[in-house]
Amino acid sequence: MTSADAPVRPESPSASSANGDQKHRKNRKRSRSHRRADDDNASANANGTHALAERRSSVSKPARDFRDMPELSPKKKKKTAKASSALSPIDAAADSSLTRSPSPVIDFDGLSRPSLGTRARLDETAEQKAERMERMKGAVRTLLECVGEDPDREGLLATPERYAKALLFFTKGYQDNIRDVVNKAIFQEGHNEMIIVKDIEVFSMCEHHLVPFTGKMHIGYIPNNAVIGISKLPRIADLFARRLQIQERLTKDVANAIMEVLKPQGVAVVMESSHLCMVMRGVEKTTSSTITSCVLGCFESKEKTRNEFLSLIGVNRR
Ligand SMILES: [Zn+2]
Repeated sequence: MTSADAPVRPESPSASSANGDQKHRKNRKRSRSHRRADDDNASANANGTHALAERRSSVSKPARDFRDMPELSPKKKKKTAKASSALSPIDAAADSSLTRSPSPVIDFDGLSRPSLGTRARLDETAEQKAERMERMKGAVRTLLECVGEDPDREGLLATPERYAKALLFFTKGYQDNIRDVVNKAIFQEGHNEMIIVKDIEVFSMCEHHLVPFTGKMHIGYIPNNAVIGISKLPRIADLFARRLQIQERLTKDVANAIMEVLKPQGVAVVMESSHLCMVMRGVEKTTSSTITSCVLGCFESKEKTRNEFLSLIGVNRR
């Protein structure tokens, strides 16, 4: 494997294989028509560069900050592909960054699946912050007017500001950095038995209706010698919950992030939650709960391990 290939990896289990095939076909076609003479190594490299570019907007299609986008022009890409020893600036950066990860959930700088405005929120000045607040307040005022309220009556006077602040809190996960969260809490213990933290309270926001969904998350993993501080698991769950989410992706994000920062033998995440968008509107099923799970590594490959986890968290007893 050449160093230019390093950031490339098989797409996560959630990636559509059809997409992969398509990509492959596209690459093959290109190499046939334009670079017939190139050797296998070069086309593998082209594949790699292409896959890296693809990876940045793939899987759950995260919206990314434009400053994170690769700056390679198509012309430059080809050049990189041909000269396998010469690394492009992007590849070089990838190479030198230890946490340049193949994961769709954590970016190279430790920000977890940053969205379009993550950096704007992180880097903003006091004036920009005030400007953001004014815009949000205006928007909430409009909403109040649109539902037929009088935003100037006493009870609602401070509501736009309160709601804006609340919304920024509900989505503070966008700004959290997984490196700060994990912060030296990985210990080489030589422990290889299952560890479970169950009933972690999770509050998130449904990205389809902007109303909360709340519930409990159960996280289990089997270490590969290294263990993570127990309290970090709820913090990782929170990091991904405090943003606009769907439960399926939240479950997957948490599992993938733990897999990535800890490199255990396996991770299992189960989440049960109640969606206000279901309870208060739509089908109005007040007692239903939605269960999602994501199992990786040995939890995926060994039924016995998976069942042990499920019976310990008590999900399959109900
Ligand atoms: Zn919803």
